[in-house]
Amino acid sequence: MSVVIVGSIALDTVQTPVETHADMLGGSASYASVAASFFAPVKLVGVVGTDFPKKFTQLLRKRGIDLAGLQVAEGKTFRWAGVYEWDYNTRRTLSVALNVFEKFNPTLPANYATAPFVMLGNIHPSLQHRVLDQVRRPKFILADTMDLWIETARPDLMKLLKRVDALCLNDSEARQLTGQTSLIKAGRALLRMGPKFAVIKKGEHGALLFSNGGFFSAPAYPLEDIHDPTGAGDCFAGALIGYVARAGRATPAVLRRAIVHGSVVASFNVESFSLNRLERLRPADITRRYAEFIRLSKFHAP
Ligand code: AMP
Repeated sequence: MSVVIVGSIALDTVQTPVETHADMLGGSASYASVAASFFAPVKLVGVVGTDFPKKFTQLLRKRGIDLAGLQVAEGKTFRWAGVYEWDYNTRRTLSVALNVFEKFNPTLPANYATAPFVMLGNIHPSLQHRVLDQVRRPKFILADTMDLWIETARPDLMKLLKRVDALCLNDSEARQLTGQTSLIKAGRALLRMGPKFAVIKKGEHGALLFSNGGFFSAPAYPLEDIHDPTGAGDCFAGALIGYVARAGRATPAVLRRAIVHGSVVASFNVESFSLNRLERLRPADITRRYAEFIRLSKFHAP
């Protein structure tokens, strides 16, 4: 069952305390699509400029991603630059150049409209609405967002929450959107805004899943070596919806396993810059780390 994924496609420059890499493949749709492609066929919707390197298109194509929805517009690709501090958690954006992304109008090819699973990656909520206007009764819609849109496009975002099945966001964004300090209260408040499921990511501390009458707390995979945390959230969401698509239905039990698969793929992604680690990743690596995850978090009542 295929997944339509819309979001940004970027050329990223990332600085960590030990390394800097420029003009790498980035963007919410790139990360999410590659992550989802380990579980289900992916149809990507996005825009790049005429400067977008062929090797990146090839990378996406090699993962079997359908690029019929990838627009190539006259001009430069969206560029983002960020710097991480010593804890690899605190990130500052150094520069953003929207370029062709500024006029992006997501247009879905005819065969995308019937895709049963849709992921609205991090882009302006009005563009996320435009994608939903073009799909026919998907089984499951997952939306991601960020602090910028909570701040600048709240009315659009609130309307979007009434149209999606699940919302995925990080802890500070959940607090910002709901005005609740407690993440438990924030999760419940998110459900009252519309979606059936709310997923709150807590970075290196795992994730929380809220559904009506249900709650699940997933631990994070304890990683020794982090090289570049960029895109972890997008990989998490991409793998999550890919797993749900593979299962063919979005029950709370499937969502629990999807969240752990999301954490597993995100944990691989941060081991290297850009999509370098996922490019080399094999399905067996995911299976092995998923099993390890279970072993690490299992305990028995006395
Ligand atoms: P994450 O680390 O999951 O927050 O996502 C990082 C990715 O988001 C980078 O690859 C950036 O290119 C992309 N990004 C940064 N700012 C924006 C924005 N305003 N809209 C869409 N994507 C963005």
